[in-house]
Amino acid sequence: MSHLIPARQNRPTGDVIFSLNAEATKRRAAGESVVNGTIGSLMNDDGSLAILDTAARVVHEVSRNEWAAYAPIPGTPEFCAAVIHDYFKDQPVLKAAATAVATPGGTGALRHALMNFLESGQKMLTTSYFWGPYQTLCDDHERGLDTFSMFTAEGTLDVGALDAKLKDHLKHQGRVLLFINDPCHNPTGYSMTRSEWKSVVACVKENAAKGPITVLIDTAYFMYGHGDDPRGFLNELVPLLGSAALLFAWSASKSFTHYGLRVGALVAVMADEKERNATQAALAYSCRGTWSNCTRGGLAAITKLLTDPALAASCDAERNALKLMLNRRVHEFNAHAKPKKLIYPRYEGGFFVTVFVNDWKARHEKMKAQGVFVVPQSEALRVALCSVAEKDIARLVDALAS
Ligand code: PLP
Repeated sequence: MSHLIPARQNRPTGDVIFSLNAEATKRRAAGESVVNGTIGSLMNDDGSLAILDTAARVVHEVSRNEWAAYAPIPGTPEFCAAVIHDYFKDQPVLKAAATAVATPGGTGALRHALMNFLESGQKMLTTSYFWGPYQTLCDDHERGLDTFSMFTAEGTLDVGALDAKLKDHLKHQGRVLLFINDPCHNPTGYSMTRSEWKSVVACVKENAAKGPITVLIDTAYFMYGHGDDPRGFLNELVPLLGSAALLFAWSASKSFTHYGLRVGALVAVMADEKERNATQAALAYSCRGTWSNCTRGGLAAITKLLTDPALAASCDAERNALKLMLNRRVHEFNAHAKPKKLIYPRYEGGFFVTVFVNDWKARHEKMKAQGVFVVPQSEALRVALCSVAEKDIARLVDALAS
């Protein structure tokens, strides 16, 4: 007899990525030379976790009262305002229509979106390659997950496939919740161009005339994107104001290298004030109904890092150094992978890249036997360059191509 309800009796144990990482770590500790491209945290070339010094210092300076006390249920007003400003400091139109709640990491934001913008049993829509926990979140919250084919034959975003699925979801479930992870998409590494954003916005706007569409942009990696203007793409979203609801999953995990602090936010941008207020109430209610409130000390530290100009500038400088380290790896990867004719999406920056291979299972096993660890996916292998030292990239590519 099981006391678990039937739907929960056969949940898989363990996590592929964490167990591969454990195996790689064990073999390395036993003296083997191992390349570990499994884990999604940014590591220095010497294998230590990359941490922004300023962020670590500020976290330690937070007073014991801040750590001990409850935070307000939707997060401190200062934190929510700081996150809204972080996104929209150069975009007053979206800023004026924004509201936010604090969540434990970006994951909490994704959870609230699924629960408040889909009915039970309805499906969210995302790209055909996606971060695995999207499926876990859907399973655990009794929502489904559907995908549109991510790439055209030319390797650009398949907006035609998106259009067909938007129509399908509107027809069959009367609403759409679309998750887009950009820039530095996990797992492919793809970052949409401004013109792709324009096409997506035009497509969503046209379909939104027929029913409610909510677009969630998962910006977990947005501080590591190609170029100097991580917020530039936000300008492309302005035409959606008043047609579609916009949600943003904000996370301090990668931006401030404090994955374990569990600080994030869900930001909602809605033109209609009444709808915005109702959304704020629904999201705050969801906070109470799940984690009650986030860690006040974490919110205080991140608020300080976002709002104190000197601290924000230090974090930017330290993060830029990490970005340069990551970009050197990206450059090295492209330099070796192109001549070897590996097939992967345009890759200009970010934590991951995905190499498309037919024999992914066999190739993965063969690589593992050589001490090179990546994550197998259907017809593909995900490489976490964020955790591979620059000097190991040639070996990694050789193993991928073998
Ligand atoms: N979204 C994507 C695509 C991610 O890869 C991650 C973390 O790996 C997250 C969201 C959420 O991270 P966190 O909950 O730590 O903010």
